[in-house]
Amino acid sequence: MNISLKNEVILVTGASRGIGAEIAATLGLSGAIVAGTATSDNGAAQITETFKKSNIAGQGYRLDVSKPDECASTLTDIEKTYGSITVLVNNAGITRDNLLMRMKEEEWDNIMNTNLKSVYSLSKLVCRNMMKARSGRIINVTSVVGFLGNAGQSNYAAAKAGIVGFSKSLARELGGRNINVNCVAPGFIDTEMTQSLAEEQKKALINQVPLGRLGEVSDIANTVLFLSSDLSKYITGSTIHVNGGMMME
Ligand code: NAP
Repeated sequence: MNISLKNEVILVTGASRGIGAEIAATLGLSGAIVAGTATSDNGAAQITETFKKSNIAGQGYRLDVSKPDECASTLTDIEKTYGSITVLVNNAGITRDNLLMRMKEEEWDNIMNTNLKSVYSLSKLVCRNMMKARSGRIINVTSVVGFLGNAGQSNYAAAKAGIVGFSKSLARELGGRNINVNCVAPGFIDTEMTQSLAEEQKKALINQVPLGRLGEVSDIANTVLFLSSDLSKYITGSTIHVNGGMMME
């Protein structure tokens, strides 16, 4: 089945590489106008270039999602050019792993600001116009780690679990306006985030996955495509787990 996202204006944060780049391409090739963000001007220019080559409408923007003022000004820029955002994909995320006993306050704060506060800032900014339009989608990328926990990732797990509670609450606030808020929880996906793991660690991870491999970025992008489309219109406040069976509900 072909899913058409014609007439959608979609903001994908962290679209320069990994999961976000694939989400941006998948949604763009389905007909949406896509604003994809990177943390540098060069990264934003590369997104624009990639979109041009693939005939995707939209462009790259430079944005540090941990800065609320930048979120607001980027949103204004996007809406001036393309109109109101109809689908927000909060994908940007980082890790700053450390055992709690060694974790610096800065490592905690960086994760909270980039992975969790950004979801608050951007959701708040887009939902005014979505409420007026009585339609919209907010899709937040969380992680299996937010559900299972992971030694050395207490900051990351707390932020990712926080996203789930935030999304459920927002789904209740906005459901009456026909705005769906959902999460996608990837397991371990083959991106730069996981390429930095030692071979031993990777092997140990794969041993916990019934499907016996890391996930592909397209596994996540296709789930986001589903949640962006009308096929998922009766789903809100939910998390779709895409983890090869590593955690079953
Ligand atoms: P990645 O390859 O490391 O890419 C991270 C993306 O986030 C990049 O586009 C990066 O932009 C952007 N970013 C980083 N800091 C940012 C900031 N302050 N403001 C705006 N953008 C920022 O990561 P990934 O593996 O694709 O992960 C994407 C999402 O999936 C994250 O939320 C991650 O937590 C989640 N996730 C990943 C996995 C996995 O196994 N890979 C598993 C579960 C969940 P620049 O390139 O410009 O730095």
